Amino acid sequence: MIAAFVGGTVIALNAVAHQFQAGAAAAALPAPTESPSAPSSTPSVPPSPSDTAVPAAPTAPPVPPAFDKTAHSIDDPNSIWVVVNKQRPLADGANFVPPNLVDLPRDMPDPLGYMLRSDAADALHSMFAADKAEVGTQLIAQSGYRDYSVQVRAYQHYKDALGVAGADKTSARPGFSEHQTGLAMDIMDTSSGCDLETPCFGSAPSGVWLAANAYRFGFILRYPADKTAVTGYEYEPWHFRFVGVDLATEMHNTGVETLEEFFGLPAAPDYAG
Ligand SMILES: [Zn+2]
Repeated sequence: MIAAFVGGTVIALNAVAHQFQAGAAAAALPAPTESPSAPSSTPSVPPSPSDTAVPAAPTAPPVPPAFDKTAHSIDDPNSIWVVVNKQRPLADGANFVPPNLVDLPRDMPDPLGYMLRSDAADALHSMFAADKAEVGTQLIAQSGYRDYSVQVRAYQHYKDALGVAGADKTSARPGFSEHQTGLAMDIMDTSSGCDLETPCFGSAPSGVWLAANAYRFGFILRYPADKTAVTGYEYEPWHFRFVGVDLATEMHNTGVETLEEFFGLPAAPDYAG
């Protein structure tokens, strides 16, 4: 009702409405006093019994909505939440190729030309820029997407040299590598002198910063120092996994370090056989 919002003109418009009510259009016009939101100069009408008969909703204190742990699949290899470990190979791993693989932007050192999924690549780009701004170092994308055939060759190389037990400590079996998801990147920098063989990077300025700040960009440190029995991998201060900002932030805020613990999955210290 326009009349309801214009104060002193209510009476005049009501009069017009009453004139219409006398005519053929009367049935289509609501009575001027029916609008419950109408600020009116006329005395307010007490609510009728039917207005108060509806029970009020329980007034629980407001709580933030619980994090939805089912928002993405942890089984679908296309999902940014897929959990891959020694007990959870990629589904159809011999044939799986992640969607939207892209080369990294040219301003990111990527000496071996590894690709990532586009969403992970964008986040990595932002993280490299933030490290440069906040730490002053230059990060390097050391190893990203590895396809199944590359993993077959890598594992075979170590198996020939070290045997199965030795190879399993060094390289994921084909179909069990998080690198095949296109969501994992091994990160180094140009100044620490560290490599992918020792924990050195974990105490370098960039490694410390990444461990504390990667969640802001949707990454988690996938193989923390004290979680080998859960993840099946030794401490890898260079290996970061993209899971999206929502999940990475939730894990950061709740202090849960591994995907296995967060999703209530069994520990995966070793292969089934
Ligand atoms: Zn890695």
